[in-house]
Amino acid sequence: PINEAVVSFLSRSANEGFARTTAACFAAQLDPTLDEVNDIRTAVSEAVTNCIVHAYPDTLGLVTMRLRLFADNTLEVQVKDRGVGIPDVDQARQPMYTTGGAERSGMGFTIMESFMDKLKVRSVPGKGTVVTMRR
Ligand code: ATP
Ligand code: MG
Repeated sequence: PINEAVVSFLSRSANEGFARTTAACFAAQLDPTLDEVNDIRTAVSEAVTNCIVHAYPDTLGLVTMRLRLFADNTLEVQVKDRGVGIPDVDQARQPMYTTGGAERSGMGFTIMESFMDKLKVRSVPGKGTVVTMRR
């Protein structure tokens, strides 16, 4: 990468906005359109919300967001937690699949996928999850 920033924060809902804004600020050096920044904001918001809601359901844990800028003007956002993990990633990525009950729509991964160009999800149950997005 030609530039990189890493930030870690507790899985408090207040930090969802912090992460979203931080990613948007970092992306500003790409000279993005408003639509592009909004897409990045939305995708980051979904990834970080998943850490807050699913990765650490009854505790607070650390979430690490790594932002990388490449020479071809692409941005990579990696959101990592050391929470409960996902037993079946393919199933979790299906539209409308949720373990969150009635207040969740199960659209987070689908939104990340459609607002970014690439989405990779690696997860180990009991160890945590890493979501990597490119745009
Ligand atoms: P929505 O995002 O629409 O509010 P959702 O969070 O359930 O609903 P997705 O974001 O698509 O939908 O996630 C699908 C499922 O994958 C979740 O219900 C949860 O079971 C699991 N999941 C997602 N991210 C994580 C994570 N970081 N740690 C553990 N489980 C996760
Ligand atoms: Mg979600």
